Amino acid sequence: YCIEIDGDTLTQVETARKSIMERYCETLKAGLPMDEMRNSGTYFYLESIEEYLGGAWVKVTGHGEMLMFGGYSYLGLNRHPKINEAAVEAIARYGTGAHGARLLAGTTEIHRELESSIARFKKTESAALFSSGFLANLSAITFLVGRGDIVICDKLDHASILDGCMMSGARMIRFRHNDMDHLESCLRETAGHKGRRLVIVDGVYSMDGDIADLPAISGLCKKHGALLMVDEAHSVGMLGATGRGIEEHFGLPPDTIDVKMGTVSKSIPSLGGYIASSARLCDLLRHTGRGFIYSATVPPASAAAAVAGIKVIEEEPWHVQNLHRNMAYFANRLRQEGFNFLESPTAIFPIVFGDNLRTSTMSKGCQSRGLYVQAIPHPVVPEGTARLRAAVNANHTLEDLDFAIKTLQDSRAAMESLG
Ligand code: PMP
Repeated sequence: YCIEIDGDTLTQVETARKSIMERYCETLKAGLPMDEMRNSGTYFYLESIEEYLGGAWVKVTGHGEMLMFGGYSYLGLNRHPKINEAAVEAIARYGTGAHGARLLAGTTEIHRELESSIARFKKTESAALFSSGFLANLSAITFLVGRGDIVICDKLDHASILDGCMMSGARMIRFRHNDMDHLESCLRETAGHKGRRLVIVDGVYSMDGDIADLPAISGLCKKHGALLMVDEAHSVGMLGATGRGIEEHFGLPPDTIDVKMGTVSKSIPSLGGYIASSARLCDLLRHTGRGFIYSATVPPASAAAAVAGIKVIEEEPWHVQNLHRNMAYFANRLRQEGFNFLESPTAIFPIVFGDNLRTSTMSKGCQSRGLYVQAIPHPVVPEGTARLRAAVNANHTLEDLDFAIKTLQDSRAAMESLG
């Protein structure tokens, strides 16, 4: 069951790319889900938010007021007054641009402060800031492994991890999602390998909403002498009593993960990605990371917003507490009303309706009733598991959550009445 992409030679990487292109062309011929949705009048994509209203409500062009029930702002911190103020102050002080890469006059005090804030929050020696999470993954993975090394990934790892592995030239092995026996067999089969072995998993999987079995994975990495990297894009802010992520969730020490990757664009309302790890690794990434050296850094106002966002999470514990209350309440209400959803201890609720048409009819029904929730069709997810990807956030009131349940019920009843 090991799917391997052997990146030892460029030709082999090219072959892998070619097969992706072939699949893409086949999908085009077969017709894309977007065409199906457009034809059935259920297309909801790149809709524009006109205004953020109070709480979790937004005004959407052509749709009016909607309750936000998707998106990544798990702590609902966008427009928090302290964060807005920090960004405005930074604009007054530094202007709107960073003017290129960090190493060519693009570093301001606020970029340095953000790296220290991330390291403090994630309890690591240091952190290196990138202009996006995508670039942080590409840069760290291509630095950590190369030809002669092995990288072992969960099959549902984020696209930026897969792209980083492909670019690195390391031999890539993917294990079945969250299957610890399979991970162990991959580690056993590669025992005695001369080069480095790196295991990479997501903390929280954004489409299934489930979490990595960190106690088991870190135990296996220790036992087999492999390095562990975890993408915490979704777990930071969401997991753990103080929102510090997956180690805190499992009560594990902060040095359980060797390399912690994360973003400041989800629970933290800004833009940017980071690697939090040892001072030595972060220093090396600042000198060699391709995304660090060859791409512009985040604007100072975004860095200032991220610094303030981290401070808010540290000083105002009720945001994480509200999120956890809402996660438990909504899961319970979905169960009571008999919805088929993938259960997990996260804020992501994949509500499964099976085929694409049923799912997009549901999303259209919800949207027309004022609930901003999107359909995730096949082939983004496996056939027969098309779903609504609902996400609760800390700004939802219990009335908002009841409104969401009522909307889901009404939309389901309307869909079923169509036969
Ligand atoms: N990792 C995961 C798990 C993600 O979901 C994302 C973005 N959705 C990224 C990495 C990339 O982060 P960014 O959007 O900051 O580039």
